[in-house]
Amino acid sequence: MLVEDETEIGSLVSDGLTAEGFSVDYCEDGDAGMEHATTKSYDAVVLDIMLPGKSGLEILKQLREGQNNVPVIIITARGESDDRIEGLNLGADDYLPKPFFVEELVARLRDILRSVPMAPGPASPPIWWMLKWTGKPGASPSCAI
Ligand code: CA
Repeated sequence: MLVEDETEIGSLVSDGLTAEGFSVDYCEDGDAGMEHATTKSYDAVVLDIMLPGKSGLEILKQLREGQNNVPVIIITARGESDDRIEGLNLGADDYLPKPFFVEELVARLRDILRSVPMAPGPASPPIWWMLKWTGKPGASPSCAI
């Protein structure tokens, strides 16, 4: 999920991530971002800090207080080093100072997603689903995987 109130940056980043194969939920304010982050399950959250409504740092803090350990990358404006440090202290996994290249965000997301155990996907089919009946009725069953 991406939370960024500057539409231009937001749509650029969202398009860039989509082009790289990510499916992106894009929120433009902190309250919507918080709601999405707590009601849905994401592989990663990209949070701008300065947002209308809840700030990125407040969202991050509430997520971590709620034991939500979704990987978070915060986006900070140039010079907001206090925010960056606070973000990392609050449990952000990485940060990117603006301006940044979408490619860099993609690289960091991939890195973060590699270092966390993937959320359990749909259960793989039990092994017997892969067994194929090859005998004729009445013949003794034989199986091929
Ligand atoms: Ca902003």
